[in-house]
Formats: sequence, structure tokens, C-alpha cells
Amino acid sequence: MVGRDIWIWAEFCRNEPSPLTLELLAAGRFLADRSGGRVTAVVTGEVSSDGAATLGLYGADHVLVLSHPALARFSDEDHAHALAAAVKTRKPAVLLLGASIAGKSVAPRVAAKLGAGLLAECTAIDWTAETLRGVVPLYGGTVLATKEVVALPALAVMRAKSFTPLSPDGNPDVTVEEVRLAPGGLPERVKVIEVAVEETGEVRLEDADVIVSGGRGLGRSEHYKLVRELAEVLGAACGASRAIVDAGWVPYKHQVGQTGKSVKPKVYIACGISGAVQHLAGMRNSDIIVAINNDVEAPIFQLATYGIVGDVLEVLPALTAAFRKRAS
Ligand code: FAD
Repeated sequence: MVGRDIWIWAEFCRNEPSPLTLELLAAGRFLADRSGGRVTAVVTGEVSSDGAATLGLYGADHVLVLSHPALARFSDEDHAHALAAAVKTRKPAVLLLGASIAGKSVAPRVAAKLGAGLLAECTAIDWTAETLRGVVPLYGGTVLATKEVVALPALAVMRAKSFTPLSPDGNPDVTVEEVRLAPGGLPERVKVIEVAVEETGEVRLEDADVIVSGGRGLGRSEHYKLVRELAEVLGAACGASRAIVDAGWVPYKHQVGQTGKSVKPKVYIACGISGAVQHLAGMRNSDIIVAINNDVEAPIFQLATYGIVGDVLEVLPALTAAFRKRAS
């Protein structure tokens, strides 16, 4: 029989739980308080004692480590295999994963192995009458569908910024249980030879309070430096529309939107971005949206808190100079 526990799949970045993992713990806590179960943070690979303590502080009742040499590095198939096997044996009610690149790759594999229902890209989640219910944005966020998984265990992938991490006053001495998987117990069809961590010194879009994003209205790739300059003065992250990512002006990691990143900063400054639904899908929940566009009819102005009708090539340097002056 399926239990009442809520599992979250914990991801780590430089030995610390990722910001999305802390959000999942808050989501897990919310569901567990309703289901009457406990929150288990599942780690595939290994976890340091500091990492486990952080999981406890942010809401985990229990940390389950599924360890195997092949899990030391990320390969979606092996990690999904380990997770699915553990869910099958221990029968939690729900498994939550983050909508990170890894989470979006692992979740459907686990669901397929278990024949379980999966809610993808949820922005809200609830537990009522033994059922997992999630809110899933459709058509670029213009429609919000409420969906239910009626059979347990149920899986959900949570978008970033859907839950705010709890204050870290949980249990740092959380119980850590390690389960060593048998040699040969994983498919191991792919061997990860090397992992290179990019050291850019840039503020990550997912963590930023302020984002300055550029679009095709910048005219040429060289003009993206105006976005970078304003971002630097503000300590902001740099975003982009898909149009300029596809054009090769900036790497994909900067893309905001339906097929890019979902962000929820305090301030989002859209520079020369028209406001297509696919772009809005990734940033419409920002607290304050400032749009700079030379077309007063641009759809972005319908969503913007503040609008500047003007040429980005003039407005951006003027803003950068003004903020620089204030900072000095
Ligand atoms: P445009 O739509 O060309 O807009 C440029 C804007 O700049 C215009 O409003 C114009 O008035 C203004 N402008 C021009 N010159 C100036 C100037 N000198 N000063 C000020 N303003 C100026 N898009 C995303 O962004 N993210 C996604 O994740 C995404 N996913 C997609 C998924 C699918 C399945 C599809 C079909 C599309 C997706 N798109 C996505 C693409 C999206 O539909 C738009 O094509 C894209 O967002 C447009 O980018 P843009 O606003 O930079 O360019």
C-alpha cells in the first residue's frame, strides 16, 4: 500500500542543495502537512554532512541517500533507475522534482518506469482527498490548467520560484539513511567521463533579484553589451529573448521564456522585447516589469508596471549612466 510520505529529489551544486531544491523542500513540507506523512529528501549519489544538515534545516524529516559509484556523476538513465526502484520499494505518496535540466530529464523516465502519473511544470500544488493536484500553465501562461493525478505514487515537476524556501530553522541533525545499490544494479549504459563547471562570475538568472533582458530591438549582437553594462551597475543577471539566442548573439543559458528559464525577480527590465506569449511565460510573475520599446503598441506594455517608449540604444546608456552616478 502506498504511504503518505512526500519525497523530493535533491540536487546539489558545489556540495550545496540548489535553490530549487530548497523550494522543493517547502513544497514537500506543505504537502506533507496535509497528507500526514513526512518529507524525505532523496539524494542519488552522495551527500556531505553539511549538505544533509542543510536539507534538514530547510524542511527534510529524513534524508535517503541512494549510493552507487555510477551515481557520482549525473546520467539521467542511472539516476532515474535508482529513484524509480526506491519509489517502488518504499512507496511514497508523491515524488517532487525541480524543473531543472536534470529534473526535467529524470522525471518522465521515473514516471514511465513506474507507470505513474506526472504533472509537468507545476506552478502550484496541493493535496486533497488522497490526490495530488497541480496548476500547470498552458499556452505560454495565458491559461492555467488544474490537473490531478488520481493514482499514487504521483510525480510532479515544480517550476522555479513556485514556492519560497522555509526559514532554515528545521533539524540540522536530520536522520541520514544510506542505501548502497548492488554492483550491476544500474543500467550504466552511458559513462560520464568529465564534468566541466563553467566559472563566469555572472549572476545566475534563477537567483537574481534584478534581471536585464535584451531582445531583437537591440538591432545587432554588439549592442547586447548595453544590457551587460546596465546589469553590471545594478548587480543584475542578463537575460535574452529566444530571437537573439537563436540568432547566436547570446548563449541559450540566458534565454527566458517557455523554452528557456522561468524567472521571478523583483525587477525585470525588458529591452527591445516585443512581449510574445512564449517570452511572457517565463517572466510574467516578476514583481515589477519595466519595458523599453520604441513601439507604443508593443504587447509587453500591457504587462509592464513601467513603460519607457524610446530607442533602447539611447535609453539603456542613459539608465546605466544615471545608476552609475547614484552608486558613486
Ligand atoms: P521581436 O518580436 O522581433 O521584437 C522586437 C521588439 O523590439 C519589437 O517590439 C520592436 O518594437 C522593438 N524594437 C525594435 N527596435 C527598437 C529600438 N531601437 N528600441 C526599442 N525597441 C525596439 N521567445 C522567447 O523569448 N523565449 C522563449 O522561451 C520562446 N519559446 C518559444 C517556443 C515556441 C514553441 C515558439 C513557437 C516560440 C518561442 N519563442 C520564445 C519566440 C517568440 O514567439 C518570439 O518570437 C520572441 O520572443 C521574439 O523575440 P523579441 O521580442 O526579441 O523579438
